[in-house]
Amino acid sequence: MTQASRGFLRIGTEEAFSFPGQANLLDEMARRPGEEMDLITWRRRLTPGGRDKVPELLDLDEGRIASMDANGIDIQLLSLTSPGVQMFDTETAVAIATEANDYLAAAIERHPTRYAGLASFAPQDPARAAKEMERAANQLRLHGFVVNSHTNGEYLDDPKYLPILEAAEALGKAIYIHPRCPPDIFARYYRDYGMWSALWAYQAETGLHGMRLIMSGVFDRFPNLKIVLGHMGEGIPYWLYRIDYMANVGKGINKPNAELLPSEYFKRNFLITTSGMNDPLVLDYAIKSLGADNIMFAIDYPYQETAEAVTFLDDAPISEADRRKIFETNATKLFGIDTSAAQGARVT
Ligand code: MN
Repeated sequence: MTQASRGFLRIGTEEAFSFPGQANLLDEMARRPGEEMDLITWRRRLTPGGRDKVPELLDLDEGRIASMDANGIDIQLLSLTSPGVQMFDTETAVAIATEANDYLAAAIERHPTRYAGLASFAPQDPARAAKEMERAANQLRLHGFVVNSHTNGEYLDDPKYLPILEAAEALGKAIYIHPRCPPDIFARYYRDYGMWSALWAYQAETGLHGMRLIMSGVFDRFPNLKIVLGHMGEGIPYWLYRIDYMANVGKGINKPNAELLPSEYFKRNFLITTSGMNDPLVLDYAIKSLGADNIMFAIDYPYQETAEAVTFLDDAPISEADRRKIFETNATKLFGIDTSAAQGARVT
């Protein structure tokens, strides 16, 4: 497709990277005995013939840009791959998050028209996390934040994490809640049949995180906080009728802390992305249910195929106005991505 006929940029909003500081530590942890589900997932790369995405995750230059060019991707919004820094001890997590943000900012500086980025932070130390969020937004000019669901089995609705939510709202930057494997108390239920990661557990885990935020009432305290969920909303959009119904019927039991209906928060405080969910029926439902303003394009590079994601949204039977919102303008608005230079260098 030519640049003139397309008329919009393609911006992928859930695109993963790693760097030696993170990858080497996770390698080391995965080599030790232990059955934590995230480590089993990471360990697969260390197994001969196993699925190894780390070389692609580490490449923030020629290989990645070539893949973007080959598939007509103008900009990747990069985030440190799951499980981020969340399996590390507190001091290590704080150090690696800082290092990751510097590393990411340097990559954006090398390729300013091709990359934007979400900053990491260490929930293990909420006060220092908030400081790093401020530094990442104000000094490094990163575009938002990423967290990989739970930290040691705790979720962002826990009062200890208030400084993190407060910082995100004050800085006007969204938090992308990316999946990781559920807390290990669930391992026995998810490990059978290989359901501990993207096949099912990621969605169950991250959907739970979104629901905890909604039901806890944190959005009454932070009405302007924006949360992003991948994978077409981690199942929540499909469930909204029943969640609202039960929240109404069971007032005081099912809805202890929040003022509005769950769906009202979901439509006001959440955006979803298409990452890894290249299904036009689900997209059609999401547009009708949430509105095209609440949906952004994502590939889930390098875990899923760029070409398939692009073809899916290029061919989806939606209006051209909605296609442009989902591919480009919802992301530029939410994350404050400056595309003036990218517009001139649009990939065709
Ligand atoms: Mn992903």
